Amino acid sequence: MHWSLGRQSSWVQLAGHQGNFQVSKGGEVLKLHSEVEAKCLDSLMRDPLRAFVPQYHGLVTRGEHCYIRLEDLLSGLRKPVIMDCKMGVRTYQEEELIKSRTKATLRSDMYQKMVKIDPSAPSAEEHAQNGVTKWRYLQWRDTTSSTSTLGFRIEGIMTEDGSVQRDFRNIQTLAQVTEALLYFTGGQLDTLRAYHSRLLALNDTLKNSPFFRTHEVIGSSLLFVHDHSRASVWMIDFGKTTPLPDGRELRHNVPWVEGSREDGYLIGLSSLITSLSQAVSV
Ligand code: ATP
Ligand code: MG
Ligand code: MG
Repeated sequence: MHWSLGRQSSWVQLAGHQGNFQVSKGGEVLKLHSEVEAKCLDSLMRDPLRAFVPQYHGLVTRGEHCYIRLEDLLSGLRKPVIMDCKMGVRTYQEEELIKSRTKATLRSDMYQKMVKIDPSAPSAEEHAQNGVTKWRYLQWRDTTSSTSTLGFRIEGIMTEDGSVQRDFRNIQTLAQVTEALLYFTGGQLDTLRAYHSRLLALNDTLKNSPFFRTHEVIGSSLLFVHDHSRASVWMIDFGKTTPLPDGRELRHNVPWVEGSREDGYLIGLSSLITSLSQAVSV
């Protein structure tokens, strides 16, 4: 479990690849550098969304690697409770889909993953071949969680005692999301209300954000963090967030059809806001 890495400080890593992060001094975390993410963070520091993104302090080299310096969102929290929600109706870029389509290679690793989650998912032909194409796998995977229907999925929750849960594939309805939110917050009304108003403010700010209008936001998360006295939500993970060509803009609140590059980010946000309203009134 990755989270044990950062236990000596208050830092905890809920999702993502092991080895991508280093804890730093002075309320910062270091994330392995990617050009795409650094460019996004650079623009975000000059966008109205700045208030919803960890502060970005540029790059630093440690040993052989270059890292992005980010504000540690857990800094100052006591026994933080954390949830990572991956936003959008799909978690792969159109570019990945196009690339994978041109390769007809059969992937047995992806076939195995598929069978593990749903033995009835592969077709008779795929069973016989013991493999699926990456193209098929990418599209199938997002239908096994709430990603393609609710526009987001819960990647993980860490509770106060430090235990982490990652399997939320069974969540398919808004009522189940509400249940998960009540579990995550222990039903604390103050916390639920704080999250609700923060998401409403985020929704307003997204509408006025030049960055958001002009970027396809894929695989990015909302990180929910609270302790006994505070609760907040932050946008993180811009490793697959890319600018649109030729001054094109996205609406973010419509279903995706190939070629549209729509990400459905606002569909997910609206699902979360509706569920929080329900949780607040339970
Ligand atoms: P993936 O693409 O697989 O989702 P990643 O390697 O791009 O992962 P992130 O999603 O950016 O990594 O972050 C992984 C986890 O690290 C988050 O779920 C969160 O728990 C923690 N984390 C990331 N950034 C911060 C931050 N600025 N402050 C505190 N915690 C953070
Ligand atoms: Mg992530
Ligand atoms: Mg990422």
